[in-house]
Amino acid sequence: MLRKFFSRKLAVIALALFLGLIGGVNSASAHAPRYVFYFIGDGMGAAQRQAAEYYLRAETGVKDIKLRMNQFPVAGINTTYSADSLVTDSAAAGTALAAGYKTNNGIIAQLPDGTNVKSLVEAAEEKGMGTGLVTTTRITHATPAVFASHNSNRDAENEIALDYLDSGVDFFAGGGYRHFVPQNWDGGKSKRKDDLNIAEKFKGQGYHIFLTEKDTQKFRNYKPSGQEKVFAAFTYSHLPYELDRENDHTPSLAELTAKGIEVLEKYKEGFFLMVEGGRIDHACHAHDPAGSIHDTLAFDKALDEAYSFYQKYPDETLIVVVADHETGGFGLGFGDNYFLKMDQLFKAKVTTADVLNEGVGKYDKDRKKFFDFIATNLGLDNLSLDEKIKIEQAMDLIDGSQKDAIATYAGYDPAAITVTHIMSERANMFWTTYAHSGTTVPLSAIGVGAEALGGFKDNTEVARTLFSILEFKPTEVAFTHPTSLPKVINY
Ligand SMILES: [Zn+2]
Repeated sequence: MLRKFFSRKLAVIALALFLGLIGGVNSASAHAPRYVFYFIGDGMGAAQRQAAEYYLRAETGVKDIKLRMNQFPVAGINTTYSADSLVTDSAAAGTALAAGYKTNNGIIAQLPDGTNVKSLVEAAEEKGMGTGLVTTTRITHATPAVFASHNSNRDAENEIALDYLDSGVDFFAGGGYRHFVPQNWDGGKSKRKDDLNIAEKFKGQGYHIFLTEKDTQKFRNYKPSGQEKVFAAFTYSHLPYELDRENDHTPSLAELTAKGIEVLEKYKEGFFLMVEGGRIDHACHAHDPAGSIHDTLAFDKALDEAYSFYQKYPDETLIVVVADHETGGFGLGFGDNYFLKMDQLFKAKVTTADVLNEGVGKYDKDRKKFFDFIATNLGLDNLSLDEKIKIEQAMDLIDGSQKDAIATYAGYDPAAITVTHIMSERANMFWTTYAHSGTTVPLSAIGVGAEALGGFKDNTEVARTLFSILEFKPTEVAFTHPTSLPKVINY
């Protein structure tokens, strides 16, 4: 009996030791995901997600269809305030999401005192993983910048471009070549004040370069054969809004993401890929509901690419979807019956944010031309008397160059804003600010370690949780995080 007990006990111990050994050998790979996607919707609050989903339902007629991001099993809510304001900007919120530290608005991956803080991308580089930054904005814009540069000023994009050279990031794709080509560049305009050809320096480091719209097809045809590096900037400034994008000119966010995956999956130590839907924010600053919806849907299509990859490697992949802040104070469901009416938005063939504010649809004192343009391109061929009067009043302001009155439109074209407000009103949508708002934003996640990201968290906790899941070492500096709102509001 005793002998039998011992032999059974020994067998159990031996098995436990064996399993322990396997567990020990594999502990890093068993816990830390090999492939990580960090999707950041700039300005993508709860209302932006909801508007896009309802639009998709109305468009497809499928009543219960959901955005990909709304199908993930883990959900969270995140506070976004910065170290110096309830309303953050993308630099401070990005620093929090990338490095786990609060900082002041305008600062890129530094504390307010100038100390650099390590980003998740930099930590991934330390571990030898492949890394990528993909965006629809200029690649030097605040959200990508916080992952691969450090600067006290988000507007120092020429310096940020220079930082990228030493970042080790393996895949860059977005817009804004203007900071990577020398002044007097013969390929077009530049914003640089020096003769540095940063794109050429990337080439010298072995990167495959795709510059200007002309390289779109070349980019689409490109196939990496081993651990290769890519630098792609297709436009002078931001990539176009999805609604204005011409397929033969520039790739979609989904295409950039798919190519990023194709390149980075060749990296033996896994990868960390940040994908930003950067212009949801811009559309919402300009109160353009159709612009916001189409860019959110394009972001969700990019997420589909990551999700397909996840389906191939579910035990090794983590996908996280966050937002840096909400923009526009976007409200849904106004008017008589509180429902959204998407019909008017279906008729939008162009953005008001870009095309009406500064593109071919801009009011140039030819009233008939403007009314014809919005009839053809926005479906506004049946203006009520009240709507027409509002647009004409905005035209009067522009014709009279009444600067003070125009300033109330936050620098936007009064006629464009009046038209976009008519579009919004017809859809029962409303805007409360031309800036960002201080509301919380949703998070979604799926894959290895995702559960830890759920719940109500501050944006710094999201990054810190990711550092922990990925077994990365974050920056350890003494810095007191504001644990509550930095400025108490007088009630
Ligand atoms: Zn913004």
